[in-house]
Amino acid sequence: MDLIIFISVYLISCFVIAFMAYKKKINWWLALIISVIVTPVGGFIYYQSNNPIKAYKEVRYKCQRCGFYFTEKATFCPFCEHDGHKIPLKKIYVDMT
Ligand SMILES: [Zn+2]
Repeated sequence: MDLIIFISVYLISCFVIAFMAYKKKINWWLALIISVIVTPVGGFIYYQSNNPIKAYKEVRYKCQRCGFYFTEKATFCPFCEHDGHKIPLKKIYVDMT
């Protein structure tokens, strides 16, 4: 009987860790597997040591003609300007990982 209670608590702990990992937007199923195999303590260490992938946005300047992205702001695309076209760069935001 005690064993059933122990297993129940154990599994609930595993799912709590997995749920916390899910909330933190990290690999929750891996947290669950670690918790089951290495005990929820191991799962918790995994949870603590992992940070969610921060997707941040960065400004890029895109040329509409050649499709090239520039990190520096310029009035016209230097490549197209070289070819005799004055193409204003369009400010866009790109996802960085
Ligand atoms: Zn261009």
